[in-house]
Amino acid sequence: MSKFPLLFDIGSPKPTTRQIAAVVKQGGTAALTEAERRADHAQYQEVVCRSALNAVKGMPFKWTLNPYRGCTHGCHYCFARRYHVQFEMNADDEFASVILVKKNFVEVLVKELDRPSWTREQVAFGTATDPYQPIEGHYRLSRRTIEALTRARTPVGLITKGPMIVRDKDVLASLSRVAKCTVCMSVPTVDEDAWRILEPGTAHPLQRLRAVRELADAGIHAGVLMAPIVPGFSSSRSKLERTIKSIADHGARFVGCNVMYLEDGTRTHFMKFIEHEFPAMTPRFERLYAKKYAPESYRNEVRAMVRVLQDRYAVAARPSGNDDGPAPDVESETGPEQVGFSW
Ligand code: SF4
Repeated sequence: MSKFPLLFDIGSPKPTTRQIAAVVKQGGTAALTEAERRADHAQYQEVVCRSALNAVKGMPFKWTLNPYRGCTHGCHYCFARRYHVQFEMNADDEFASVILVKKNFVEVLVKELDRPSWTREQVAFGTATDPYQPIEGHYRLSRRTIEALTRARTPVGLITKGPMIVRDKDVLASLSRVAKCTVCMSVPTVDEDAWRILEPGTAHPLQRLRAVRELADAGIHAGVLMAPIVPGFSSSRSKLERTIKSIADHGARFVGCNVMYLEDGTRTHFMKFIEHEFPAMTPRFERLYAKKYAPESYRNEVRAMVRVLQDRYAVAARPSGNDDGPAPDVESETGPEQVGFSW
């Protein structure tokens, strides 16, 4: 007999994320005996959620939507890695290989949007994990979410690294006709080495930029977030220039950027990765990231460089602090001023 009771039998409800966390706490992810292992070697555990709209404070939007938890794109800098710890899973391999799928997400969302108290406030879609990671091709939760938001005339800002979003340009165009809709494609850099090293599960950056062109051609307000720029990998002037030129060439309506920040499990994972793969860079990262954010002076230098390049290639800056969609990671705390970094 199994050491851990089955969470559900055939015909009975799926477990909640809380139940999943309890099972993993006892027996690790091996105890998720009903998770489906697919060809990409990731395990997919269906769960039920009690709410879809998640209220947030201190951001330019009031609500977030995330139908999946965990992300097979597996970016080493991903700030959402640390959230996997909430489910008793680690921020390393398990973040990218054990994905929770909120099977009833759209049904719950429709009920929430139907409430008379819903005032159609700005919703940010895809803030914790990518709504167009590969499994979306199977579940289509993101497509059905956009359809629900359209019926409720609710403004949305969506962020993704998944070119699969072009599949849904018809529903995004419909949403754009009844409410404000902004798509932010995340392309931190077009440098192939940095892409391969830092974002091992994502589509090629140019494929993502081609998706931006297709969305923009369909009348959707689509632009690019260079999020995040990673010191030492994608921060040199020449790499920034190649990236912004390419973004402009692909017809992006806007571009924004932020510099990587490191916190909790994300910090632990990223520093382990650097120590293992690029040990010579470790002391510089330790100095630059003595705190959660790189020093203000460093971030200002990167932003100033990006502004110059935006002007040079005539691509609009993405306004910050407005209601235009998911913001780059909020940089409210500043680290100690440090000078002399040449990354
Ligand atoms: S695509 Fe986004 S959510 Fe997924 S791992 Fe990369 S940064 Fe994180």
